[in-house]
Amino acid sequence: MFFGAQQVFDILLTRHVERRQGGFFDHLEAVPANLGKDIKNKHRSHNHENGHRGDQDEKGFHSCGEPRGIPGPPASRNFPRKELFAQAAGMFFTGGTMIIVLRPHTPKPAIEEVIAEVSKLGYDPAPIFGATQTVIAAIGDERTHQNLESLTAFPQVESVLRVQKRYKLASRESHPKDTVVDVDGVKIGGGHFALMAGPCSVENEEQLLSTARAVKAAGATILRGGAYKPRTSPYEFQGLGKEGLSLLDRARRETGLKIITEVLSERDVEHVAASADILQIGARNAQNFQLLIECARSGKPVLLKRGMSEKIEEWLLAAEYILAHGNPNVLLCERGIRTFETYTRNTLDLAAVAVAKKESHLPVIVDPSQGCGRSDLVLALCCGAVALEADGLLVEVHPNPAEAMSDGQQQVDFAAFRQLAEKIRPFLAATGRAG
Ligand code: PEP
Ligand code: MN
Repeated sequence: MFFGAQQVFDILLTRHVERRQGGFFDHLEAVPANLGKDIKNKHRSHNHENGHRGDQDEKGFHSCGEPRGIPGPPASRNFPRKELFAQAAGMFFTGGTMIIVLRPHTPKPAIEEVIAEVSKLGYDPAPIFGATQTVIAAIGDERTHQNLESLTAFPQVESVLRVQKRYKLASRESHPKDTVVDVDGVKIGGGHFALMAGPCSVENEEQLLSTARAVKAAGATILRGGAYKPRTSPYEFQGLGKEGLSLLDRARRETGLKIITEVLSERDVEHVAASADILQIGARNAQNFQLLIECARSGKPVLLKRGMSEKIEEWLLAAEYILAHGNPNVLLCERGIRTFETYTRNTLDLAAVAVAKKESHLPVIVDPSQGCGRSDLVLALCCGAVALEADGLLVEVHPNPAEAMSDGQQQVDFAAFRQLAEKIRPFLAATGRAG
């Protein structure tokens, strides 16, 4: 027997409300009180009409001892979709839901053993009995209890499935409208596009200021430049550190551009945040959770790169760390992942941009420079990213890429950047953004 996610959710809701006799919404603090009551009443009248109550014991067996079947038409089918989503959003904050699928023809004592274990682990079990197969919906708080995947240790458990996403604050369900991140007056997301550009590394005053002027003239609103550089080899240029930050400060004063720069370690967050308008978390630190928390606390917007072998779910969960620590201003940044391909440095995953925009309300930025590692491909990738409705680009630009102290092969010069800023215009217009 196969249960679709919506069907399981419907059944789960019906069964759970039946069992708790209306207490279900009491622990969903985020559901508005009147909405909970409204849904509860609909459940009550539906269940009453169909006479589902009172003929089963606490574990859902009929009084004769036979498992009861799946309840009749789930009451929640009568709900407008909006209410279901509001209700799901409510669950995000107080409970997690897992579905435990038992093997076909599992005998009653073995079913009861799993039900008892679910209760013991602090979840509220709601069994649903099919003709040959039983599933148990379990509602509980993952933050205080372990998740139930360990139940596959029982031979009678076939699988344990999640109904809800592991990321909650980052999800579209919790926040259907696009988030607009306001970087001190420069808006990103929700139809606002931002062009961020500048050198890979801040090298010296002349290099940074000439680049700042050139990218501003071409239409950029945010200047990038690494003062702290994460280099694969300890013998390569590591960045100018604090001196680089003061040059970025100077560039902001002179041009009015906002500044994005990378923070490599927790001990640097405070002083980097004093100079930066956006903190960049690099691919190598994408799951450095203590660093993410420290950046969240700084109160500055955070651009979170995707790690080079990070799954989309992990990327969104890393964003969740920042959101859960009280900072709503997160920009997701796709910068390419490691694959078998050798023609490019990384494989820019444009599908991940489309997925992230569907799954999350957060703005998504594309870094084509790390994304392919080749200056000759940057323009094409920018056009593709804008056509996919990316909310911004982060492009490496250098006055003389051949002499760059890092990533020279992928940095474009001023003329190429001017051309790029022109060429993306029709793609911006086609996707409803000002070109
Ligand atoms: C960079 O932006 O220069 C950089 C080092 O990026 P990433 O962390 O994506 O490699
Ligand atoms: Mn770089």
